[in-house]
Amino acid sequence: MYGIISIKKNMMACDERKDERDFMVRSQIAARGVRDRRVLEAMRGVPRHLFVPRPYSAEAYDDYPLPIGSGQTISQPYIVAFMAEALRLKGNERVLEIGTGSGYQTALLSMLAREIFSMERIAALLEGARAVLKSLGVDNVQVRLGDGFFGWAEMAPFDAIILSAAPFDIPDAILHQLADGGRLVAPVGPLGAQTLVRMTRRGVHFDTEALLDVAFVAMRPGLS
Ligand code: SAH
Repeated sequence: MYGIISIKKNMMACDERKDERDFMVRSQIAARGVRDRRVLEAMRGVPRHLFVPRPYSAEAYDDYPLPIGSGQTISQPYIVAFMAEALRLKGNERVLEIGTGSGYQTALLSMLAREIFSMERIAALLEGARAVLKSLGVDNVQVRLGDGFFGWAEMAPFDAIILSAAPFDIPDAILHQLADGGRLVAPVGPLGAQTLVRMTRRGVHFDTEALLDVAFVAMRPGLS
């Protein structure tokens, strides 16, 4: 087990609104059963307010998702923490994230694993996320514009894969990029009837567990 391997200097220095983050972790995340100490510590560390559009800044640590532009949302803090815990990261993994969005979850993952590869189909969101991650000094993340339905074949295999938009079914192309023993965590299904699932690869088989009922934006094909 590794400690948090990459709390960047700048992120450490961000004491701004630390009390709100501590309260968020106590009242929304630990209180609902997230136990992984590294996840709790990372949630206390990442300045979520920097990933939220200015008009919503005051609500950055509240218990719900928020609009981030282009019709997309940053997930509720609890859901971000729950999914990060579900990936069972120890610190040495290479992780694929599909749906960079604001880059908030990307920043969290950067503190929990060795290397993060994050894809987004909307250029405006990707550029915003890239700028915030850079300003925080995060240096173990690669982001790129791309259609997540195809995954990121050049960088495969991944020890963990996380989707933050919901397909009807997990595309085979993505499953093929999961390493043996690797975990994929994703919302699956149509809006109104989505389930968060974890699939663990065992050779040619995938063990599937249903974890939670959820409401995510739909995964869409192509670039925008
Ligand atoms: N984890 C993000 C959540 C963003 S919402 C955050 O913390 O802000 C989900 C994101 O998935 C959206 O930005 C959406 O544009 C993106 N997305 C949807 N379909 C996609 C696809 N096929 N490939 C890559 N990204 C996709």
